Order: sequence, then structure tokens, then C-alpha cells
Amino acid sequence: MDFGWTPAQRAVHDRMRALGAEADAAPPDERMRVLARGGALGLPIARDLGGEGLDLVTTALAYEGLGATLRDGGVLLAAGAHLFGVALLLARVGTPAQQRAWLPRMASGDCMATVAATEAGAGSDVASVQARVDRTPAGYRLTGEKRYVTWADRADVYFAVARDGGEGRPGGAPARGLTALLVPRAGADAPRVRPGAADEDAPRVPPGAADEDAPRVRPGAPLATAGLRGARLAPVSFCGCEVGPDALLGRPGAGLAVFQIAMTYERALILAFRLGAMERALGEAVRFAREREIGGQAIARHEAVAHRVAQMKLRLETSRLLIYRAAWELDQGHRGQAEAALAKWHAADAAVLFALDDLRLRGGAGYLEESGLPSAVDDALGGSIHSGTSDVLATVVARWLGL
Ligand SMILES: Cc1cc2nc3c(=O)[nH]c(=O)nc-3n(C[C@H](O)[C@H](O)[C@H](O)COP(=O)(O)OP(=O)(O)OC[C@H]3O[C@@H](n4cnc5c(N)ncnc54)[C@H](O)[C@@H]3O)c2cc1C
Repeated sequence: MDFGWTPAQRAVHDRMRALGAEADAAPPDERMRVLARGGALGLPIARDLGGEGLDLVTTALAYEGLGATLRDGGVLLAAGAHLFGVALLLARVGTPAQQRAWLPRMASGDCMATVAATEAGAGSDVASVQARVDRTPAGYRLTGEKRYVTWADRADVYFAVARDGGEGRPGGAPARGLTALLVPRAGADAPRVRPGAADEDAPRVPPGAADEDAPRVRPGAPLATAGLRGARLAPVSFCGCEVGPDALLGRPGAGLAVFQIAMTYERALILAFRLGAMERALGEAVRFAREREIGGQAIARHEAVAHRVAQMKLRLETSRLLIYRAAWELDQGHRGQAEAALAKWHAADAAVLFALDDLRLRGGAGYLEESGLPSAVDDALGGSIHSGTSDVLATVVARWLGL
């Protein structure tokens, strides 16, 4: 076991730190473009598909670097949903044609992807989704209402899970009648792939792209969330969207398994950026505890204060270990479902407690909006809900233990 980083890994981290600082200084609407230009959306995608071919441990380190300098957790969440929730899924379960059609544009950020799974009656229990996917002579038709979709109004393509009307494949493994599709925003909004010299056999229109007259995907307006505003959560209506047969991800009826693979990547990596944010906040907390004097002595002299800051360090380091461990499991080709659940569960809850400690440490000043600390608490709370609530992740871990 080696806990050290190679010079190449450090260089990626430093590059992403600098990129995060550039994005932080940019207007909110420009930040995703800055991340895309700097290569942050393609780090673990294979080189021949437009990415940098990094392993997931190094990708996590890169996102830790981004989180150290970019304070917009919402944009980093959206980048993670795009890269970990959809692009890595495609890299794992997509056909070679699907990968060639989508991944280069996802890696460059020309085509933004997101996960559209949650519905009014199906959040924690995705197996209860009511969105419907019907077979048509030309492929599939998707109808349904999704909600709380990250980057909903800016995404070009949606990874959607819907009920397929069947009870699974006859004679096949028990299935729950769900099918996963990659649904472009449709018409003029759908990305077009220009085949390059080295990629002559790539389809001109990505698999699943609908024709111009097809009913469109309709994202709603971004919701007023407590935190993570940059993630632009919104509902998305799929109004009888027609897609081609190549929109299918995995097999018909295997939607639940496909969704779980996506969630495993997302849970392992989505909070890696939070490690950088916690590291930055910890440095500021240590400085504050040393410098703030009450009655002629620094508050750090109080054991209660020093222990609060020490707890923040413990929460950061335990989250770090679990996130890198989950990424390593996936790099080894292991299933990694339980390790990813442990990492996301712990890191999300640790981040909430960390943010509360950070606020309390400052007394009244911490409660002022201008301190940024109340909104850090709101952001951290969002992390304990998306990609599986902490309750649901605890259940995944309990099942892993045979309970
Ligand atoms: C910031 C943010 C970003 C999001 N991004 C996306 C996105 O991009 N795409 C998308 O599809 N969705 C997204 N979501 C939605 C998110 O995945 C759901 O909100 C979450 O899965 C919970 O579902 P729910 O809101 O329906 O709550 P419910 O499922 O109704 O849960 C309500 C409460 O019951 C508990 N509970 C429910 N079932 C169980 C169980 N089996 N065991 C234990 N406790 C249980 C939950 O933990 C929770 O406390 C996002 C949410 C947030 C906050």
C-alpha cells in the first residue's frame, strides 16, 4: 500500500487547482466552460476518445484540486453528474459506437450530460419510477416527469431510467422492468458528431438523436434550492420523445443494474471536490482559532475550540481515505458498490458536521451571510441528499454486511 502521490499525479492536482481558481474568478455562467476548456470534464475518459485516460484515484485527486479553489459546489456537482454519472457509465456499458459518438464531445464539454432518474414518487427507490419507455418501430418513446435534475436546462443529453412495460426478459434473470436510455435534448439541440479522419465509421448523428420534428425534452426553470444553486436543479418533462434503438444503454430490462453502475461511479467520486473545499476551510479555521483573542488569549487555548478544529481534521481525513479507497476499488475493476456507498455516506455527513463546526467556531461572525459559512452548511446538506441519501447508503452498506 502506497499513500504517496507521483509527480505526474501532483502535476494534475496543481493544474486543476489553478483551473479551479480561474473558474472561481469567472462569472457563474462561465464556470462550466472554464472547466471544460481546462480539460476537467474528460480526465478519466480514454485518450482515443478525447480524454486524458487518467485512473479514478488520480481523477479524484484532480477534483480535490478543483474543490480547493473553486467555491461553487453547484457547478462542481454538475460537472460530477456529467462525468461520473453519465460519461463513466458510457465508458463502462456503452457500445463502441455509442462511446465514439458521445464521449469525445462529453470530454470536451461540447455535449453536457446529466442523470434524470428522480420522480415525484421515486427518489430513493428508483425501481418505482413511473416514466414509461415504449418500443416503437424506429426505437423507443419516452414519456415521464423527472425532477431535481442537476444542470437540467443546460444539458444536451439525459441518462433516463423508465418503466418498460415488461416484467423483464422471459427466462432471464429477475428484472424489474426498467430500461435505461440516453436521450438527447432533441432537434437542433442534439449534438452532431463530425467523423474525423481516424474515426470514419462513427455515426454522423449520435445514437439516439431524435429527428427535428420529434417532441422535445422540456426542462423547467431552475428551482430555488437552499444551496448548490450553481447545479441548477429543475424538473424535466419527456413528452413522448422518440429516440433511435442506439439510445439504449445496456439491455432492455436491465435499467436498474445500469443505474446502479452509474450511481457507483457517482457516489465514489462526486464528493472528491469537497475534500479540497474542506482542506481550504480547515486552514482558515486553524488561522482563525489562533488569531481570535478573547480576554487576552487565543480561543485555540480552549480545549473545546482546539478539539472542534481537530474534529474537522478527522472528518476531512476519514472522508479522504474512503473516497480514494472507493476510487481504487473501481480502478481495480471491482464492483465497488459498497465502498462507494461508504465513501459518499461518510463524506456527505462529515461535510455537514464540518460545515457546522466551521460556522460555530466563528461565533456571531459565522452566522452572517457574508461569512459564506451558512451557505457552506446549505451546500453540504445537499450533498447528503443527491446520489442517494445517507439513509439509503446506510441500507446499501447494511445489505453488503448481509443484514
Ligand atoms: C443537490 C441535489 C442534486 C440532485 N441531482 C439529481 C440529479 O441530477 N438527477 C436526479 O435524478 N436526481 C437528483 N436529485 C434528487 C435526489 O437523488 C433525490 O432527492 C434523493 O434520491 C431522495 O429522493 P426524494 O427526494 O424523493 O426523497 P424520498 O425518497 O421521498 O426520501 C424521503 C426521506 O425518506 C428516507 N428514505 C426513503 N427511502 C428510504 C429507505 N429505503 N431507507 C431509509 N430511508 C429512506 C430518505 O433518506 C429521506 O430522508 C438531486 C437532489 C439534490 C438535493
